[in-house]
Amino acid sequence: MAKYNPADPIQDLQYFGEFGGVNPSITDSSTFTFLQAGKMEEIFEHEIEGCYLYSRHWNPSNKYLSQALAKMEGTESASVTASGMGAITNVILQLCNSGDEIVTSRTIYGGTYAFFKNFLPKFNIKVKFVDITNLEQVKAAITDKTKVLYCETMSNPMLEIADIPELSKIAKENDLKLVVDNTFSPMIFSPYVLGADIVVHSMTKFINGMSDCVAGCICASKEFIDSLSDVNAGASMLLGPVLDSYRSASILKNLRTLHIRMKQHSHNGMYLAKKLQEEGLTVTYPGLENHPQHKLMKELMNEEYGFGGMITLDMQTKERANTLMEMMQNDNIGYLAVSLGFYKTLFSSPGGSTSSEIPEEEREAMGLTDGLVRISIGLDNNIERTFEKMLACIKRVK
Ligand SMILES: *Cc1c(COP(=O)(O)O)cnc(C)c1O
Repeated sequence: MAKYNPADPIQDLQYFGEFGGVNPSITDSSTFTFLQAGKMEEIFEHEIEGCYLYSRHWNPSNKYLSQALAKMEGTESASVTASGMGAITNVILQLCNSGDEIVTSRTIYGGTYAFFKNFLPKFNIKVKFVDITNLEQVKAAITDKTKVLYCETMSNPMLEIADIPELSKIAKENDLKLVVDNTFSPMIFSPYVLGADIVVHSMTKFINGMSDCVAGCICASKEFIDSLSDVNAGASMLLGPVLDSYRSASILKNLRTLHIRMKQHSHNGMYLAKKLQEEGLTVTYPGLENHPQHKLMKELMNEEYGFGGMITLDMQTKERANTLMEMMQNDNIGYLAVSLGFYKTLFSSPGGSTSSEIPEEEREAMGLTDGLVRISIGLDNNIERTFEKMLACIKRVK
């Protein structure tokens, strides 16, 4: 299976600031001057390398970060957006016209689910939800109107692993674009290298890792990324989810430690999942042998980054889940908060929050029970101590 090392190409990028700074200078301008009027006309027609027009279109800070992200995913090009949803919605609206169809995994981020289910019908775009681990079901949902096959590499919150090489085959046979959200598993999976056409991320999560901003990115071919910023017909240019250049600069600095952070998140995730399972608790973690796609993940992953920092723990009832989360916060194990990829452990109950957009029957069908606690393991240096504290809380829950 094609493996990729996402960290080395980022390391190899060489950027200089205006006065030889070791970090690139931050663009503090919305607009850019031209020496010749003719050049301005030219850039309205097509992008010119190293030449900037207006910050919603492109600016140097966003370019630097985009280049690093393209290196990470092994794509020709990339662009950045003001949120993960900004990345997802722009990709979909760029690819689909009225009358088109999308086949998507049913276990996806709640916001994406709501966009597909409630928003796209306004544009006469039909979305079919399938069990992405069932390739026959995926194939059966495709019609001659289908344009996009959509999934998350590691799904939110059920941690199902999508078989990207097989889905890529299906996409190619049917002339579809395979769009993959890799938010839960940056560096762990390289979906583009495995056959996806477009990779999106919420950089709000692991990539930035500081829980201090909201941002997203799109990694794909140069042709697709250029089409997004087309002044006449590009979704990013016209819908305008531009990332502020100050944020771009700070995310680039945080991206440089992503490989180290992912390894620590995964180390902690594996330790906790094993220990909790040994206690007889119902834990879902793709690093555990009993995870339905454990073998598949081993085949597809870039091993050195581990199985990730996300775990779910089934506490059976909503009441027990809520009690546990409050106890864990009181004992300073982490925060009762949505989102993920922070240095501190974050936990929430997806049934009542980030996945509440999904109707109850559908949540049941995918195993998303009300007692489920989603845990994003932090960078805890002493994970044994964290486990002991967590176990003490669990034992106190009636
Ligand atoms: C958070 C999240 C998003 C949305 O990203 P925002 O940055 O909050 O807009 C999309 N997909 C997944 C898997 C997420 O976890």
